[in-house]
Amino acid sequence: MALFPKFSKKRDGVNVIMEQKLLQNTSNLILNAQTCTGCGICAEACPEEAISVGLVGAVRRGAVDYAEPVNIDEAKCSYCGVCVIMCPFNALTLKIDGEERLPIVEKEGFPQYDLTTKIDDEKCIRCTVCEEVCPRDAIDRQVPVFEGTDAEGKSRQAAITATTKFTVDDEKCTLCGICGALCPAIDVNHKPFTAESGKVEGEVVWDEAQCDACKICVEACPEEAITVEREVTGKKIDGSVSIMDENCCTCRWCAINCPTEAITVEKIFEGEIEFNAEKCPAGCSTCVEVCPANAIYLPSPVKASEMKGQLEDKIAVNKDFCIYCGACVQACPGEDIIVLKRSGVKITGKETDLFNRIKEKLFTRRTSMVKEGVAPGEVEVKVLEKA
Ligand code: SF4
Repeated sequence: MALFPKFSKKRDGVNVIMEQKLLQNTSNLILNAQTCTGCGICAEACPEEAISVGLVGAVRRGAVDYAEPVNIDEAKCSYCGVCVIMCPFNALTLKIDGEERLPIVEKEGFPQYDLTTKIDDEKCIRCTVCEEVCPRDAIDRQVPVFEGTDAEGKSRQAAITATTKFTVDDEKCTLCGICGALCPAIDVNHKPFTAESGKVEGEVVWDEAQCDACKICVEACPEEAITVEREVTGKKIDGSVSIMDENCCTCRWCAINCPTEAITVEKIFEGEIEFNAEKCPAGCSTCVEVCPANAIYLPSPVKASEMKGQLEDKIAVNKDFCIYCGACVQACPGEDIIVLKRSGVKITGKETDLFNRIKEKLFTRRTSMVKEGVAPGEVEVKVLEKA
């Protein structure tokens, strides 16, 4: 029996680690089973056909916990790194002797996805919209927390840059103390009351750092002695908002919803997707759950009086957000309900012969499944026609 290569596979938390031990070095291909969407692009790209798609819908919905969306044969794998490059979700990592490396890029040259993800800092108002709509947690919003959302947060007046001027008309002020009793920014300091003067004397002291220019002192002063003037010099709140490319799937939820059009994201795939809603049995919604781009939805019911003879759609896709990854096609248990045809991919680098062969597979029109594969629990998406 040959001592090398030795192969092994183990599960460590969310990671499935494939290992190839040679005499000189050890390679590990690591699949993050939580990040993997089951889109199957790695399986189509693998030059060794070492990857098969598993029970995507069942795994992603948590119905089975003994399998991953894709299965990698540790002995068939050549540890070349093509799947790592082609995974649009960064679910795969290749390590050689513990160091992240991509031999195929180093040795032969292989193109990579050309990601365009930008936030124009000038236009960005640091609001919360992109962070909330992003289905992939790809937005890094480093903005201070204010007291509006957190009792321990920064005071709200710190959100903008402004100068406040507070003046007290000494002729009118009686040092009555009302403003000081109302506001933490004002102290009305009385001198000791002595029979020698026989009157109230002192001063009104104001702290700009504590003043939020609410003007309650102006309104409450019985002598109309206070004036507060505020000049706002910067309305933009501090901080930064950026896109973490490693998490971004280019769905464009952020770009489409940004209120100041500060975000530019271009999809890595072009294509078409069609839902034959009439074939959908309804009540399944597997595609809705697996869609990594939150592009698929169950349409809201239409009033019977507005139907005008049509049937209500049971399932639909918002094509603005669809990234043509194919996770829904892999997961849908019904035949010919979802049809996907990719027609373009944005890459940078030389289109090698290997890449062109992969592209041909990726551009093959596919339809939802359900064809049992050769291995138990393995399924295949039906190919409709060659590109
Ligand atoms: S394009 Fe989509 S995944 Fe990328 S940052 Fe925007 S919302 Fe998130």
